[in-house]
Amino acid sequence: MFEWTRSETLGLAKNTCTQCFGLGLRAGRGGRSVPCGCVLRAIFRACYNRFRYCATKEKYMSRATLEFTGGREKRFTWSRKDEEYVADFCLVSRRHLNADEYRVFKYHFLLGADWKLCCRRLQMDRGNFFHMVYRIENRLGRVFRELEPYSLYPLDEYFSSTPRRQPAGGGGPAPEPLAMRAPIRRRRLSPPLRKAA
Ligand SMILES: [Zn+2]
Repeated sequence: MFEWTRSETLGLAKNTCTQCFGLGLRAGRGGRSVPCGCVLRAIFRACYNRFRYCATKEKYMSRATLEFTGGREKRFTWSRKDEEYVADFCLVSRRHLNADEYRVFKYHFLLGADWKLCCRRLQMDRGNFFHMVYRIENRLGRVFRELEPYSLYPLDEYFSSTPRRQPAGGGGPAPEPLAMRAPIRRRRLSPPLRKAA
């Protein structure tokens, strides 16, 4: 089971959160520490912003990187990380949401429809819509972090070209990164991916 620690949640928690008081952890059942919703939503937002960036940037900017795949043969393979990330983001989300949640996710997050359009199209009221968005962000934030064997978050690990986990028993030192990627530029949200009809 995934172990959430304060060192992980502290930087993501909202200072003004009344649930965790900015610590990012809350007491769960049986005295276990569970991540606060503010942390999970911050993770979701980071992953979603990166998804939008990867999905909307010009294709000539995406590049192939040579990646160490480990294993007994210690092979290197070429991969296109941006495209992989976009596919992973969509597939993981689809797998972990129920049909109603996925409909809202698709309209609001993938197609970029605002709440008014979503409510009209999906015949929901505003309160229910925002409750569902909240639930989706919580669930996916947790999934993106806890996913095994490779989580979507932290993003720098996902996009790193070095192997992320050493095999059990130690496989020797990690090789040097082969391709250095340009640092991620933080951008404001751009207009919706596609105008919903
Ligand atoms: Zn909190």
